[in-house]
Amino acid sequence: MNVLDTLRLEGSLQSRGLRAAGRAEDADVALLNTCSVREKAAQKVLSRLGELKRAREEGGKPEVVGLCGCVAQQDGATLLARSPVLNFVLGPGRIGQLSAALDEVADGRRVSITGFPETEDYDSHLIARGTGARQYVTAIHGCNQHCTFCVVPYTRGHEKSRRMEEIVGEVRDLAAQGTKEVTLLGQTINAYRCPTTRADLGDLLGAVSAVEGLWCTQFITSHPAFFTDALIAKLARARRLGTYLHVPFQSGSSAVLKWMHRGYTREQYLELVAKLRDALPGVTLSTDVIVGFPGETEEDFSATLDLVSQVKFGQLYGFIYSPRPRTPAARYGEHVAREVASNRLARLFAAQSVIQLALNQALMAHRVEVLIDGPAKRGSGWWQGRGPDNRVVNVPAWKGINQGQLAPVTITGATPHALLGERVGDQGSAA
Ligand code: SAM
Repeated sequence: MNVLDTLRLEGSLQSRGLRAAGRAEDADVALLNTCSVREKAAQKVLSRLGELKRAREEGGKPEVVGLCGCVAQQDGATLLARSPVLNFVLGPGRIGQLSAALDEVADGRRVSITGFPETEDYDSHLIARGTGARQYVTAIHGCNQHCTFCVVPYTRGHEKSRRMEEIVGEVRDLAAQGTKEVTLLGQTINAYRCPTTRADLGDLLGAVSAVEGLWCTQFITSHPAFFTDALIAKLARARRLGTYLHVPFQSGSSAVLKWMHRGYTREQYLELVAKLRDALPGVTLSTDVIVGFPGETEEDFSATLDLVSQVKFGQLYGFIYSPRPRTPAARYGEHVAREVASNRLARLFAAQSVIQLALNQALMAHRVEVLIDGPAKRGSGWWQGRGPDNRVVNVPAWKGINQGQLAPVTITGATPHALLGERVGDQGSAA
C-alpha cells in the first residue's frame, strides 16, 4: 500500500513537470512517504528530517520538504511546528491534494493537510507505474478492524471499498499496457463490498481474472474472520488466481487473540486453514505474527510455535510488538521484556526457516511458470522471478531474458527463502 502511495505521489510530481533527482539532497522537492505501523519506521522519519535539514543548510537543497503517509497523519501538525525544514505535511487520505499543497508552499505558506474526505478523487491515471509487469491496484482504502495493537484505522481512516467497475477498468487499462499480474490491495481485502452493487471479493476476482492479457491475480491482506463459505467457493471457481494467500494469524494463543481483538480463536483459524486447503488445493499460505504482545507468556508463545509447525506456512513475517499511539494495547500493562521478545522472534524465525526449506525442497524437479522481475541479488548472470505462489525463483540468464517475460522453469535447488531453477529446455546448457 505504501509502495502504491509513493507511485501516486511520484505521478503527481511528474504531472507538474518534475523528474526524479536520484538523491533527496539534490532535489528541488523531497517527499518522505512514511509508515507508522511500528515505532522504528516512525523514528527513521525524524533522523531523515535531520539529514535533510543539514543538507539544506549546507547546499540549499532540497528547497521543499514534504512529509507524507501515516506519520504525517499521526504527528503531522506537531512535526510541522517542531521541524522548520518541513514545508508541508500530507496524510495518506490526501495524496490527491499534493499539487494543491505545493501551490500553497510556492505562495510562501506552510501547510498541514490531513484527515479523510468523504469523496476523494482517486487519480489512478496519475500513478507513476512504469513498465513493471506486476502492479498493485487498490480495492479498499482504510480499515475498520480496530485490532488493539494496530494504528492503521487512525492513520488510514475507515474502510471504503472502491466501485468494482472502477477497479476492473483500471486493471483493463493496465493489462492493455502489458501488465501480467495484478495484486488487489486492502487491509482487510476479503471484506470488500462494491458500494453500488454490493459485489464481494469473489465477484471482483471473477471480473478481474477475466480481463484479457492478465496472467495472474493476487490479493492482500485477508483477515481470517472474513472468509465465508460462499467467498471460499467463489475463490475456488475464479480463473488465473494466484496460489498465494496471505492470512495473518498474529498469535497461536486464543487468550492473546482475544486481547488483540482479532475476532477468532486458534481453533477457528485452524478450521479456516483446513477449509482453504480443501477448496484451493496447492495453495501456499503466508502469514504475519506478533511476538511479545503485552501479557504474552511462554505458554502463549509455544502455542504460536505449535500453530506454525501445524500449518506449515510458505512465508511468514514476524514482528516484535511495538506500542502505537492511541491504540488500546499501548495502555495494557504486563510488558514483555525486549530480550524475551527478541529471543521469541529468533526462535520463531528458526522454526519457520526449517519449514520453508522442507516445503521448498519438496518442489525440486517441479515445473512452474515464472514471471521474470529482473536481475537477481544472487550475482551477475542470475535473474529472478516469481511463480503464482509468490516464491522467488532464481534462474541463470538466457539470451533475450527480459523483465515481464513468462517462462516455464524446472526447479533445481532450494534454500529457505528462494528456489533455483532452469528454463525448460535450457538444462545442461551454459547461461
Ligand atoms: N490489515 C492486516 C491485518 O490486520 O492482518 C495487516 C496490517 S499491518 C499493516 C501488517 C502487519 O504488521 C500486521 O499483520 C501485524 O503483524 C504487524 N503489526 C501491526 N501493528 C503492529 C504493532 N503495533 N507491533 C508489531 N507489529 C505490528
